[in-house]
Amino acid sequence: MADIIQLLPDHVANQIAAGEVVQRPASVVKELLENAVDAGAATIQLIVKDGGKTLIQVVDDGIGMSPTDARLSFERHATSKIRSAEDLFKLHTKGFRGEALASIAAIAHVEMHTRPKDEEVGTYLKMEGSTVVSQEVAVTPIGTSIAVKNLFYNIPARRNFLKSNQVEFRHITDEFHRVALAHPGINFYFFHNGSELFHLTAHSLKKRIVQVFGHKTDEKLVPVREETQVVTIEGFICKPSFAKKSRGEQFFFVNDRFIKSPYLHHAILSAFEGLIKPEAHPGYFLYLTVDPTSIDINIHPTKTEIKFDDEHTLYAILRSAVKHSLGQFHLTPSLDFEKDQNLETPYAYQHKEAHLPGVSVDPGFNPFAETTTRSATGRLYKKGSPEGWENLYMGLESKASREESFSSVHYESETISGSIFPHAEVQEENDTTTFQLRRKYIVTTIRSGMLIIDQSRAHQRVLYEKFLRSMTLKETLSQQLLFPISLSFSKGELTILKDMKDHLHALGFIFGEEQEEQLLIKGLPPMIGEKEAEEVLDQLISECSMESSSTNFSQSDMLAKALSKSLSVKTGDLLDNVSQLALVNDLFACKETLLSPFNKPIFITLSESEIDKKFN
Ligand code: ADP
Ligand code: MG
Repeated sequence: MADIIQLLPDHVANQIAAGEVVQRPASVVKELLENAVDAGAATIQLIVKDGGKTLIQVVDDGIGMSPTDARLSFERHATSKIRSAEDLFKLHTKGFRGEALASIAAIAHVEMHTRPKDEEVGTYLKMEGSTVVSQEVAVTPIGTSIAVKNLFYNIPARRNFLKSNQVEFRHITDEFHRVALAHPGINFYFFHNGSELFHLTAHSLKKRIVQVFGHKTDEKLVPVREETQVVTIEGFICKPSFAKKSRGEQFFFVNDRFIKSPYLHHAILSAFEGLIKPEAHPGYFLYLTVDPTSIDINIHPTKTEIKFDDEHTLYAILRSAVKHSLGQFHLTPSLDFEKDQNLETPYAYQHKEAHLPGVSVDPGFNPFAETTTRSATGRLYKKGSPEGWENLYMGLESKASREESFSSVHYESETISGSIFPHAEVQEENDTTTFQLRRKYIVTTIRSGMLIIDQSRAHQRVLYEKFLRSMTLKETLSQQLLFPISLSFSKGELTILKDMKDHLHALGFIFGEEQEEQLLIKGLPPMIGEKEAEEVLDQLISECSMESSSTNFSQSDMLAKALSKSLSVKTGDLLDNVSQLALVNDLFACKETLLSPFNKPIFITLSESEIDKKFN
């Protein structure tokens, strides 16, 4: 048989490697920023156009490259950072594979200007699809500038696979945050489509975090510091009271490299246990310094996972360091007998009258009267009026329900169990009966049996369709605020909101003029209260920044989903009868009644024959 195996040509091999290294514009940003950091730059500029699809450029004032190095840097496995396999275990640089530039040059148009410090002139190099198009002597500042244009120009399938500019831009911002937070001692600039988004000057770590995430972050941060033989931990955690419902700012850095570690994340969750609601996520910025020989970062090409020699010890140290900080800064509840109890009353309850417990007695009650229950007749309960013996329990009953609504106020927002359903009264005469099961399901009867409806999913569906309708029909309803509220957001968050401005407007949000890190809100959709506005917008932002799956086909769809999720009644919310009925009716007025916006079944039916069968 003839030999059939061949070595692949370089440009093909590079293109294959590129598939691993470059998934989207943000991967290019990461590689270029890390190269600039490795080059010892003091100032790094990132310039991006159209979510990185048109241009990604990184300019640094680092060590630069000689003409030969400039040429070699685009070869595969060409690196100045390691020389032998042992070096892999004492890495002090971000890069080490020598694959990034070769991969990028295989799938984009690349231009490089570079000049080392001690040279008069520098080098200009232009690459297209792994081949050098031109190389010239050039007058250029000290350092390196690499511009990557038309990413995936030669792989249409990949290019079409890219998300909208906004989504790609968000991924780029995430990468930028990670590198900028890992290196507070470097100046960073970030321009998108010609406007300056970030101008971060070299500062302490705390200042850098505040620069990136906005002034409001300042009051949230609590320092963490722990030094042991195995690891040094530095950084900040966010106070428990600021924990968000959505995963927000959670950053681990190991030896100045951003990493993801579900295991270490769990260590922090367990330190916060009992201090935040189970569904809330703590924020943290933690920097671990370990002996480079004790980690292996050579696991994944995109290098956000690493392997530790002794994960269990790290877990324990991290957990206790975070606990220690939480305790030291009095963030954990403590028993204090000196405290004035009056000050402890939650604000909302301060002016409420306390109810005296009372026992109500029905003077007309006579257990031996003819009309009441008679077991002898075989009937246990008297139908109709609730007078009679049942009245005995009246006082108790109302007390119980008071307690119930009190606890629901505690866990979920109070407004929800009220009159969120506008046409509720109309349906009251309807003779369908409903009841709520474990504050989770609404049970109702239909001709053929019964329905068990998941209250939260049903409401999500109702809201989702309602929001979609108001966005497409632009039938805006808005409540003007007497006093506009001003909310603070970071620059990144503001750009996300700005992207969605038209849709938000169609939903009833009215924004005032913009100020730095402030958003003036003049009007809100009728169903969002002033107090909820910030939380709703926060959740919306984080929902958008996490959105990367292909299941959402449009921005309005994504927005409607996110809003319906955050505004719907939840499991645990007590609904009165009127609201239950209204919800059922609203659900069956929807176009789709079977599935929630997140494709989960909304209700199940139990037919009479099924019930009959169970009794056999
Ligand atoms: P790696 O970073 O893994 O070494 P790259 O393909 O990213 O691989 O870069 C190849 C080489 O090019 C680097 O090792 C470095 O010597 C050089 N290089 C890349 N970017 C820069 C830069 N901004 N300044 C100076 N040298 C650079
Ligand atoms: Mg590199």
